[in-house]
Amino acid sequence: MTMGRDGKSFLPMSRHEMQRLGWDVCDVIMLTGDAYIDHPSYGVAVIARLLESCGLRVGVIAQPNPNRLTDFSQLGRPRMFFGVTSGCADSMINNYSPTKRPRKFDNYSAGRLTGRRPDHAVVVYGQALKQVFPETPVILGGIEAGLRRLAHYDYFDDAVLAGTLTGSGADLLVYGQGEKAVRDIVKCFRHGTGIEGCRGVRGVAWRAAPEDHLDKVVGKDRIDLPDYDDVVRDKDAFLRMAKSDLSNFDPWHAKPMTQRYADHVLVVNPPQPPMTTQELDAVYELPFVRTPHPRYKKQGAIPAFETVKFSLMTHRGCHAGCSFCAIFAHQGRFVTSRSEGNVLGEARLVSKFRYFRGVVSNIGGPVGNVYGTRCAKQEPGAEEANRDACARASCTYPEPCRNLNTTQRPYLNLLREALKIDGVKQAFIASNFRYDLIENDPDGEELFLLILSRFTGGMFKPAPMHVSDAVMRRLRKYAADQTPRFFDKCVATFKKLGRSGVEIVPYVMASHPGSTMEDALEVAQFMRERGIESTQIQDFVPMPGTASACMHYTGVDPLTDEKVYRPLAHRERKLQRALLQYRRPDNARFVREALTVAGRTDLIGDGPGCLVPAAGPGDEGA
Ligand code: SF4
Repeated sequence: MTMGRDGKSFLPMSRHEMQRLGWDVCDVIMLTGDAYIDHPSYGVAVIARLLESCGLRVGVIAQPNPNRLTDFSQLGRPRMFFGVTSGCADSMINNYSPTKRPRKFDNYSAGRLTGRRPDHAVVVYGQALKQVFPETPVILGGIEAGLRRLAHYDYFDDAVLAGTLTGSGADLLVYGQGEKAVRDIVKCFRHGTGIEGCRGVRGVAWRAAPEDHLDKVVGKDRIDLPDYDDVVRDKDAFLRMAKSDLSNFDPWHAKPMTQRYADHVLVVNPPQPPMTTQELDAVYELPFVRTPHPRYKKQGAIPAFETVKFSLMTHRGCHAGCSFCAIFAHQGRFVTSRSEGNVLGEARLVSKFRYFRGVVSNIGGPVGNVYGTRCAKQEPGAEEANRDACARASCTYPEPCRNLNTTQRPYLNLLREALKIDGVKQAFIASNFRYDLIENDPDGEELFLLILSRFTGGMFKPAPMHVSDAVMRRLRKYAADQTPRFFDKCVATFKKLGRSGVEIVPYVMASHPGSTMEDALEVAQFMRERGIESTQIQDFVPMPGTASACMHYTGVDPLTDEKVYRPLAHRERKLQRALLQYRRPDNARFVREALTVAGRTDLIGDGPGCLVPAAGPGDEGA
């Protein structure tokens, strides 16, 4: 067995490692598009360790080469099934930049080497496994498989594609957080009902035969989505599909959904209810080695691991419901928080690592101060809150829902206790945090001061994503008046704390549906008025299954039925991006062009309020 730290051993990645464990066969083989890192931040490692805790023998195949089928049979045929994921991110997002150029680096591969994961990885892996082991069940999971479970728009192929279960030839698909569904699937295999028996498991998708009587095999109380062919041909059909899917998320009321394809009917069962704190705590108590497998030792560092090795993930899910967010779409809106003791236990464990230097790089989740908040529907015996299905697109936008408990006290306590851990000299919050929750909670002020005084280094990176009201309404992130108020509060608070040297670097999004050149200009002027030197940009890429992807493809907001302006042209996206970083000298000519397009040449020059100097002699392209 391949030993790791503290007597813990890695799951086998080769026949040799299996033999050393005395195994002839694995029960389950997990296949991933990332390098194998046995850490709780990696979904494949969590599911593999969870299966092991169910008493199963689990092997791992990482980054097999689709052109070498022996890569897929290197551990033989599993007794139960293959579990397949593209890795922590969608393979297309990992392989291509927002301008659709191949990326130069891959942060999930040793040595940052690219080309280790095919495009549309879960589809390609599924097809390869079915070629090598046609009879062995293949179960897809993870963010790519889940967000692409229905017919979806792919930005990089600029086309509507079939759901991943259809394209891959796999037998089942687990969407969302997989722990509960995987436990149920193992029960089915143990009861001898195999993959057929999994048709009743929540949180999975499966294929029915075209002749199957859906009232019988799925039930009458279901949502029949537009057929795949209609969704490909007709944007109104696509819109109808998106609206149904986006509103069918409440696990206490959701219905099965069906989508007809030429030779089968895709059935998506209702989602699993959110995990409990005890269930999530148990995940973090699994025997992870918490490092990459030794086989990568000589291949160079894996940047994605460097990011998480001293980071404490405190919860899953986010109730904000931002329209563009893949994490929200994948982890769901019902927040499950780990117990304080469980997180602090992990902090103590990490603080004893040989190469720990006293700095915890992050304490948080998708959004930090969502820790400990939850919907009343999640409370035990929540009949009243659960009488009706939730129909809101977001729990916080435009104002927090009455069912949402936004307490900031748990996060405040956790951060304080974390600083008391022996060996912890400094801790940071790299996660985003929601300032509307801070504003609306009695403990918010105390938490805000603690974050700015003790958990912020030389740079402070709030994520407003935009400032224009028109765009904020499409992003569903904050009400337009919250961001200026928050920024001014930050500047004043850093001054009060004697930390005026901290640089505020906002995280903003370029070219989201709804964003015109004038809206991008509004961000530039907002930054200039506050003397903000630099911004971090996220160039909008529509993630399958999100409301923003539907806006981008159809030109209609599926949550309001309003028509939406879309900056589709490459040139316009470039100009909007340049405005958001108007101070960069290499953007000057694009900023001048953008201001001309926006009819604001008055902002070109040296006058007050100007964003860019006039073109001088030698300024190519003016
Ligand atoms: S907090 Fe409100 S909006 Fe959010 S899930 Fe619960 S009921 Fe729905």
